[in-house]
Amino acid sequence: MKGNIILAHGSGGRLTRELVEGIFVARFGGSELPRLSDAATFRTLAGRLAFTTDSFVIKPLFFPGGDIGKLAVCGTVNDLAVSGARPEHLSCGMVIEEGFPLADLDRIACSMAMAAKQAGARIVAGDTKVVENGAADGIFINTAGVGRVSPKARLGPEFARPGDAVIITGTVGDHGMAITALRKGLKFDTDIESDCAPLNGMLAPLVEKLGGEVRFMRDATRGGLAAVLNELADGRPWGISLEEADIPVAEQVRAICELLGFDPLYVANEGKAVAVVSARCADKAVGILRRSPLGRKAAVIGEIIKGGKGMVRLRTAIGGERIIDMPVGDQLPRIC
Ligand code: MG
Repeated sequence: MKGNIILAHGSGGRLTRELVEGIFVARFGGSELPRLSDAATFRTLAGRLAFTTDSFVIKPLFFPGGDIGKLAVCGTVNDLAVSGARPEHLSCGMVIEEGFPLADLDRIACSMAMAAKQAGARIVAGDTKVVENGAADGIFINTAGVGRVSPKARLGPEFARPGDAVIITGTVGDHGMAITALRKGLKFDTDIESDCAPLNGMLAPLVEKLGGEVRFMRDATRGGLAAVLNELADGRPWGISLEEADIPVAEQVRAICELLGFDPLYVANEGKAVAVVSARCADKAVGILRRSPLGRKAAVIGEIIKGGKGMVRLRTAIGGERIIDMPVGDQLPRIC
């Protein structure tokens, strides 16, 4: 590959995909990495395990609804959860810039401990590096996590088929717009809060109760709902049809999206997952999700369809249709 890294290589969209496939998959290969799923799963004598890692570079470090520490734990917990695993052990690698306030570091560590506790996971390994003033921006955190995969889980894009329902576990765009409002100093009657949360408590019952009827799950982080659904449909013999009117968007998030020209479908979430579930179990799945406080707004938003292979279409609220493409550039850099 020629050229240099640009911010959009970190967007989670098309350029990230090209970079990962062009360099990392090409060099590291194997049978598991090319799946590009949220976590790698592998068999051990102790059963099937899931393993994942994620780095966090969000700016600003503290925001309504969370901070970089909570985000770092929830991000890794959620990648395990959508892989059908129970998050158990986490590691935490810190890159800290000289001059960073110890009080802020302690506050971040407290949020990490609290989020881990909420997820039922433990932080059991770590590493600390300090770089000179100016060589990093405050603090960067990497977390890795291991968890046991439920024997009932049978998840992967290859299990989805026409007729299956596409479900979102709640409103989209909250995290990205909370960060954007903060960066731009926009004030509202009530702050938009990030949805940053550990999702394993909500998602585990889905897999336990419905087993293989749940075909696929992924947390809709960078690139939002649009990126997840495009990755899901990519190279498949079927397409995805969405109903715009059924996609939950909080009123304030919609307002700020309109104000600044964002499409909520492309905005990052940190506490929402997409699930593809068999048509016959769709209502049951929504019922299970809604039992969790994090899933109150869960809804069926579309289905896998026979036509339009590899494509994601949206039926708009006024009856038109448009294609939801893979995001190319980075709408919002350093969102997670
Ligand atoms: Mg993920």
